[in-house]
Amino acid sequence: MHLILLGPPGGGKGTQAKLLQDEYGLVQLSTGDMLRAAIASGSAIGQQAKEVMASGKLVSDDIVIGIVAERIEQPDAKRGFIMDGFPRTTAQAEALDALLKARKRRIDAAIEVQVPDSLIVERIAGRFTCKKCGTGYHEKFHRPKVEGTCDVCGSHEFFRRPDDNAQAVQVRLDAYHRLTAPLIPYYERQGLLHRVDGTLPIEEVTQRLKAILAEARAHS
Ligand code: ADP
Ligand code: ADP
Ligand code: ZN
Repeated sequence: MHLILLGPPGGGKGTQAKLLQDEYGLVQLSTGDMLRAAIASGSAIGQQAKEVMASGKLVSDDIVIGIVAERIEQPDAKRGFIMDGFPRTTAQAEALDALLKARKRRIDAAIEVQVPDSLIVERIAGRFTCKKCGTGYHEKFHRPKVEGTCDVCGSHEFFRRPDDNAQAVQVRLDAYHRLTAPLIPYYERQGLLHRVDGTLPIEEVTQRLKAILAEARAHS
């Protein structure tokens, strides 16, 4: 299966993609994670992306499409993927369609995780992430079971993203509404769009996503 999670920054896409990937044997493809890895490695792409990401603007389509084209060729992505944070522009969506078509694959479902802007600042202000395994947490909504210890890998080290500040969040929300939200009608026209209420508790969002995936699987 090839799935796309759409939704605003902090909407819960990464959280849900991580929960679903094991259950369905899919790999989570997060362009945000890939770009952060490129920055950490000091690569040329990372150097180009660093300031753009810190400001909250989108990295250029060319760079991101190039990364994805390479990534979907890896063996672990051949069985299917959950894309989280890609595509984010119409040009990216069209490029993804072409990449998949050339490989006789196609998207099975695009799911919009709906969360109003009014909740996003709180979501992002409270977000922190395990340094070792990338599991996401929230100070109020999703604390580790044992204080200071990652539920998944046991690490005690966490980080906060440099772009999770009030100023960059406004820029990211603006980019979402201007450039990414038009993908909702794009996938709706193709009969691929589903919606979930992303304001529900994490486990309930997962249950609803599973119901959508069961339906998409039955039709694929
Ligand atoms: P995205 O990948 O869409 O940017 P995340 O999955 O990182 O979003 O979620 C943003 C923050 O909100 C994280 O701190 C996460 O723990 C928290 N979160 C995710 N889903 C929910 C939810 N349904 N209810 C409350 N908090 C959530
Ligand atoms: P979030 O879902 O919390 O907004 P991401 O990790 O998906 O965060 O993205 C963080 C930043 O990485 C974005 O603000 C943008 O600068 C860059 N980025 C990630 N994915 C893309 C993409 N598909 N196109 C352009 N820029 C991207
Ligand atoms: Zn961890």
